[in-house]
Amino acid sequence: MPACAGMTKLSLKESPMNRPAIDWHARAAEARPDGRCFIEGRRVEAADSVSYDKYSPVDGRLLGAVARGREADVDAAVRSARAAFEDRRWAKQPPAARKKVLQRFAEAVLGAREELALLETLDMGKPIGHALAVDVPATARCIAWYAEALDKRYDEIAPTAETALALITREPVGVVGAIVPWNYPMIMAAWKIAPALAMGNSLVLKPSEKSPFTALRLAELALEAGLPPGVFNVVPGHGAEAGEALALHMDVDAIGFTGSTRTGRRMLEYAGRSNLKRVFNELGGKSAFIVFPDCADLQRAAATAAGSMYFNQGESCNAPSRVLVHEDIADKFIELLAAQLPRHAPGDPLLPGTAMGAIVDEVQLRTVLGYIEAGRSEGARLLAGGRQVRLDSGGHYVEPTLFDGVDHRMRIAQEEIFGPVQAVLRFRDEAEAVGIANATPYGLQASVWSDNLSRAHRVARALRAGTVHVNQYDEDDITVPFGGFKQSGNGRDKSLHAFDKYTELKTTWLRIDGAST
Ligand code: NAD
Repeated sequence: MPACAGMTKLSLKESPMNRPAIDWHARAAEARPDGRCFIEGRRVEAADSVSYDKYSPVDGRLLGAVARGREADVDAAVRSARAAFEDRRWAKQPPAARKKVLQRFAEAVLGAREELALLETLDMGKPIGHALAVDVPATARCIAWYAEALDKRYDEIAPTAETALALITREPVGVVGAIVPWNYPMIMAAWKIAPALAMGNSLVLKPSEKSPFTALRLAELALEAGLPPGVFNVVPGHGAEAGEALALHMDVDAIGFTGSTRTGRRMLEYAGRSNLKRVFNELGGKSAFIVFPDCADLQRAAATAAGSMYFNQGESCNAPSRVLVHEDIADKFIELLAAQLPRHAPGDPLLPGTAMGAIVDEVQLRTVLGYIEAGRSEGARLLAGGRQVRLDSGGHYVEPTLFDGVDHRMRIAQEEIFGPVQAVLRFRDEAEAVGIANATPYGLQASVWSDNLSRAHRVARALRAGTVHVNQYDEDDITVPFGGFKQSGNGRDKSLHAFDKYTELKTTWLRIDGAST
């Protein structure tokens, strides 16, 4: 089972394997995705009709033109969102009415399952089987869960003296800018959209320039489900143009950002240079997977480490890119790990059985190959993989890659690669394992493998990470918060805690006359 933030486990009944076979190549040949902006409930060209061509990493085909949103487009979208917020066309609706709309939105996502899955695969390269089984249902479940949660949230009355009443309430923050990455385009968007809309905010979503199509379709589906025009706008475009304009905009009240730590730093600067908007950063990771000699099931540990690493081509913020293994079991464990790699060989993403798909684009491909070269030149031992493959496909594919003999100061042990490259580091004792695990700027996720209950608790407590798994890696649910310590970010997506990001806390004092003294 793979590691994928937000993934939903499917019942057998829902499994794509049980549906009649679909010719995804034929559907892909017919796909004509619409890359125009979505503002005030309508598709519009970018202000001066500027666009860029979007190619698929699957086979290099041209998918279509995408609006290259810039300051004027962002401004139009923010004005639309602001007007929708100020006239309360969404926020003033009773919670039960907002819930119905969001429930219909979630159903519409499921109804468009095949179309959305195909767009996701063509846009960023993941296998169609994963897009169908994970990305679409996780997106729908996220929206449905916040729909269901929104009318079960109560405010507070403070325990003050009898002469007054203090109401502590949460109000929508206003206009939210959501800026998201390309690795799980729909899921990352849903983690922002769903709690922000549930609380009555208006939105401008800026998808990654590498994966704009499903975000734009989500906005159309929301409108069809009954969301008033102007509440949910989407401006595609480049980070340095549309992204910067949105994060600098004086009329945006909060930014929900998911992406690299480098860009997260900029989000804080943009807020400082503009209106001190609230910034919630969900950033990169370099997660440690720690295996102790008292782990009883090394085979399962190895299968989990590999499955979680190579799922989504290794392009997961929480991928266990560092395996820390005790020196007494290291040779045996590495043998088990290496034996897993053939299962994750890259294949045609449009075939349902494919385990690993394409790297998102040429730039990311070069980054991944560059790190593989850095690992070699810094003295790590390449045990398997390391090559670009499927060159005649026209797409970008890299073998699952495993390094042994990695020192924790090497670049492949410190920096986020965001590709199918796993580094094995050996340790002597528990203290050293914890020290190495915590010795990166990141703190997103970690995992401890031990059948000694005390050790598992002790190490889990000592790890500086937003999520720690014990004897597993992939358990996940919309009910639990997801986010990082240190330079992995400050916000928390998912769960009821995400409401904190999209609301302001207000205290209202009422004098009570005639109260007994
Ligand atoms: P990125 O930072 O390059 O881009 C993310 C988004 O920010 C994109 O929409 C991009 O257009 C925009 N952007 C880029 N530069 C910008 C700028 N100067 N100003 C404003 N906006 C800008 O990240 P990416 O390559 O798209 O995504 C990969 C990163 O996302 C990895 O570091 C990964 O770990 C992280 N990620 C984190 C989580 C999480 O929940 N913590 C989840 C998924 C991905």
